[in-house]
Amino acid sequence: MLQLHDRRSRVFSGHTVTLQRLRQKRDSAKSPLMTINIIGIDADDTLWHNETIFRLTHKRFNELLGEFADEDTLEAKLAAVERENMKTYGYGAKGFTLSMLQTAMEISDGNVSPKVLREILDAGREMMTHPIEPLPGVEDALKQLKERARLILITKGDLFHQESKLAASGLGSHFSGVEIVSEKTPDIYTRAFTRHGGAAESSLMTGNSVKSDILPMLKAGGYAALVPYPLIWWAEAAEKPDGHPKYREVSALGLVNQWLDEIR
Ligand SMILES: [Mg+2]
Repeated sequence: MLQLHDRRSRVFSGHTVTLQRLRQKRDSAKSPLMTINIIGIDADDTLWHNETIFRLTHKRFNELLGEFADEDTLEAKLAAVERENMKTYGYGAKGFTLSMLQTAMEISDGNVSPKVLREILDAGREMMTHPIEPLPGVEDALKQLKERARLILITKGDLFHQESKLAASGLGSHFSGVEIVSEKTPDIYTRAFTRHGGAAESSLMTGNSVKSDILPMLKAGGYAALVPYPLIWWAEAAEKPDGHPKYREVSALGLVNQWLDEIR
């Protein structure tokens, strides 16, 4: 067998080398081979449910204010207030609660009852204390991924709430670092991966938001894997960069591992 193999190798060696070169050329044109040292992982709607909880609160808010406006009007007003307030409050449930209270007062011309305001406040508080459970398959995926690279949790939002959610999820031990940022921009990604001893170019970011987890990471020169969640907040909507050599959409966090095999 060995002799046959050797003879075949000799006969076809020239052809084999040419094929290898062609393959390397094709692969490098498709996506440069790279060792990924750090994987950045988003939290809300990537590791645990978030938007579902927001949607339930929207429903409750619309019911509480039904006497003042219909659902579409309430949603449009709340979105406008949120958009304006984001510059002041940033992301998260606390800012959203303040936006709900403001919307209630404005849409009712100040006629909303203290009882309804109290109920809105309670709804906001419930968002903050909602039990946190990892999404199916997430824990196994993190165990696999941390064998391949260092994992950094990168999330935006309220520092106290995001830290509380990570502690409640029981997933903290899988991460080498946590970055809670006010916005996800190319510069923020560059600095975060550098701070953790790597570089954006040799890192991969994964999450459910094209706008926050994918586009800025690609712009920073890194790899980005989209793991969609069934619901997306209007402020996170963006067009997918289909065809980008450093971008991939996968149906579950665990499948990022397979893409890493291709990147290497
Ligand atoms: Mg997210």
